[in-house]
This record gives sequence, C-alpha cells and structure tokens, in this order.
Amino acid sequence: MRVLDFTLFELINAIKNGDLSWEDVMDEYKIRIDRLDDDLKAYITINENIDKVNLNTPLAGVPLAIKDNICTRGLRTTCGSRILENYIPPYDATVVTKLKEAGAVILGKTNMDEFAMGSSTENSAFFPSKNPWDKSRVPGGSSGGSAVAVAAREAIAALGSDTGGSIRCPASFCGIVGLKPTYGLVSRFGLIAFANSLEQIGPMTRDVRDCALLMNIIAGYDEMDGTSINKECENYLTYLNMDVKNMRMGVLKEFFGEGTEEGVKKEVWNAIHVLENLGMKYKEVSLPTIKYALPAYYLIAMSEASSNLARYDGIRYGVRIDDEGLDWSKAYSKTRSLFGKEVKRRILLGTFALSAGYYEDYYLKALKVRTLIKRDFERLFKEFDVLVGPTMPTVAFKIGEKIEDPLEMYMMDVDTVPVNLAGIPAISVPCGFSNGLPIGFQIIAPPLMEGRLIAVARKLEEELNLNLNPPL
Ligand code: GLN
Repeated sequence: MRVLDFTLFELINAIKNGDLSWEDVMDEYKIRIDRLDDDLKAYITINENIDKVNLNTPLAGVPLAIKDNICTRGLRTTCGSRILENYIPPYDATVVTKLKEAGAVILGKTNMDEFAMGSSTENSAFFPSKNPWDKSRVPGGSSGGSAVAVAAREAIAALGSDTGGSIRCPASFCGIVGLKPTYGLVSRFGLIAFANSLEQIGPMTRDVRDCALLMNIIAGYDEMDGTSINKECENYLTYLNMDVKNMRMGVLKEFFGEGTEEGVKKEVWNAIHVLENLGMKYKEVSLPTIKYALPAYYLIAMSEASSNLARYDGIRYGVRIDDEGLDWSKAYSKTRSLFGKEVKRRILLGTFALSAGYYEDYYLKALKVRTLIKRDFERLFKEFDVLVGPTMPTVAFKIGEKIEDPLEMYMMDVDTVPVNLAGIPAISVPCGFSNGLPIGFQIIAPPLMEGRLIAVARKLEEELNLNLNPPL
C-alpha cells in the first residue's frame, strides 16, 4: 500500500510505531502536489515554512490542508478574493491553534469560491479547481479545494466551512466524508465571516474514522467565539463501533424531488436498504416547510454578507489600493470593485433585503421561515433518531455548466441549506457512483448528536466498502 493511501488513522499509527517518519510522509505529499496541482488546483498557497514536529502529540506530523477562509498566522489567507490577496493573518484561528498543538502540519491553503459564496469553486478569484474523478467537472464548493486535496491524495485530511452546504457538497462530488457540526460546537474564531448565524468549520476526510478523530481535536468551547457552546468535550471515536440496530431513520421525501437524478436516488435508496439490513428501521417522512428553505437561506445569507463585507474599505480591511488624487468615495469604489461578480450580487441583494421598507417583507420573513423549519425538524426528531437523503440532487456537473445562471447554481443547495437554518449537524458519506462519479449520502441528527452521525456513517461505509481512490 502506498503511503499516500493511508488514512489519517493508519498514518498516525505507522508514525507512532516507527514504520514511517513524518518527514518521509511530508516528502511524499510534496511530490504529489508538485505532480498534480498545476492541473487540479486544490491549493491557492503552499506552506513553505514547515516547523519541526513534536513527536509526543496525537497528530504528530500529519499533513493537513486548510480552507483559505480560516486564518493561519504568517500564512497568506485570501478567502478566494482579490480583496484579501495579500492578507497575512497575525493570528491563528482557534481550530488551527488546536491542530498545531496536536502536532499537525499545514501543507497549504485550499481554493474556494470567493468569500465561500458558491457551489463549484468557479467563483474563486484565482482559478477553478478540478474534480479528480473527471477533470472537466467541478469539485463542488465552496470548500472545493479541500475536497480535491483529500480525494486526490494531496493532503490526508482537510478543514472546510459550511454555511449552506460548503463542506457536504464538495465531499459528495469528490467521494469523501464531510461533517457540518452543530452550530456552536466548533469555534468560528478566525473564520472570515460570510454569514455568521449559519456557518461552522468541519472536517473533510477519507473516511468516517478520520472524521471522528478530527472532531475530537477541533470541537469544544472557545471564549473567543460568542456563539460557542460551553459543554463537556466528547470522544467521538467511541461512536465508531456503536450498534445501530433499532435506530429509527426518517427518509426525507422532499430530498428526492424534482431535479434529483435517477442515479442519485438509486444509490441513496440502496444505502437505506443496507442500513435496514443492519437493523435500522425506516419510514418516509415529509418536512413541509422545506420548500421555503432555499429562499430563506439566500435572503439570510445575503443580508448577513452585505453587513459583514462592509468592512472591506481598503483602510482597515482589504487591500490598500493606490488612491493618490482620488476622493474618498472614488477610492472606496476602486477598492470594492475588487470583489467578484457573485460577491457584488450578494452585497446588493442583501443590502436591498435589509433596507427600510423591505426589511419586514424579506429579511424578517426569512427569519420566521427559519423558525418554522427548525420546529419541523424538532417535530421529526421526536419520532426519528436520524433523517436521511441525498446530499446533492446530482453528481458533479461540468465546469462552466451553471456559472452563468446563479439561480441554477443556488438550486444545487436545496438539500443542504435546511440543516444550516436549523443549526443541526449533518454528514455526507459516499454511497456509490453514477457514471463513474461519486454520490453522497446525507445523515442529519438533532443538535449535538454528531455521535449518531458518526455511528451510522461508519456502519454504512464498512458495509459498502467502496473504492474511493480516483484514477490519477
Ligand atoms: N452554496 C451555498 C452558497 O453559495 C453555500 C455556501 C457555503 O456553505 N459557504 O451560499
């Protein structure tokens, strides 16, 4: 077996037993990146300054990739945007501090849609990333670069962020595991804000074991994040062998609606039957308010974005342009013209939704819908331990296919955004292929029940035993 095919779990053991040195592992990954990344474009920045590793740490020397909206001290963090093209953070995000303290090494910062707005990485100000299963296709987004790095063996695991599906979508399209934690479980300190009330940082890994392992490191209370939940840390590894017999699973009917490909439906149903054979009970259920989730999500996300992105004025935040001879308004416009098309669209729409006279009709209404969706989920969780369905309605689409039509792109998020509105956790785990492209199975649980997601996803991945190594 190649070193590059080790999972995080296996690699840690191999390094601990002295079968491998972390320097050798690092070299293998560097060679791999040199060979593949000019083409796949998983990374925006490669870390050239790798420190010595403390071998008495749980992740001693394991090479990770970090999405480029998560601050890394001394290492450029662009957020996929020209406006932060030269930004070198003076501090680490809390998750990065935790990973470094655990001994992990940051290989580089991964490509993403600008300010995490998108589902394909085509909105990156720099370049799109390519799907390692078919290079004419997108890897999904917005954490596309992280998914490519993990799937193509350019990193052993990665962090992404998920505001409306940005971890789960690329995980689904690239054949890896991605977990969006409960809102408040993982610190957002040092995550460059897009829509604060919706987003969480989470792991993107080659299997569920690695996902549990990373959750153990990144989850936990942080006084630097005002929305952080103050509770005991859990050991997610204990859920890997949990029996799922008699667990009740609700199959979300709306997730199989119009626009869902036959190939996706088939493999997702197959996964449901695999879990049924393990003793889980299932029933088809409806979440009636879900049809309002997409518009509510986009209204809330854009409104928050318009407010969050106001700080990029070229003075305190954002690139300092040459403003010689310009009055303040022209200088301000010149700076803000550095935002890409999609970011500008969202700032405009969000500002509109928040403006006097429209606030009640749009933003406030979206908040009310959000509450209804949350209650709908609460009602279902009285009857079911987990809810399931596809992560994405389709497999990865072609680069260029949807980029000219924002609505078509937004529609891709129908099955992922409800979870962010409700603040609950969800995982995407590979469940099969359609025309050689991976499909993700989504499992959703009540708040702080990540353990259930890990238990069910692990059983499924063990039973299916798919080959998730793209031919590169
Ligand atoms: N695709 C969604 C959007 O464009 C979700 C993005 C995300 O989760 N960051 O808003």
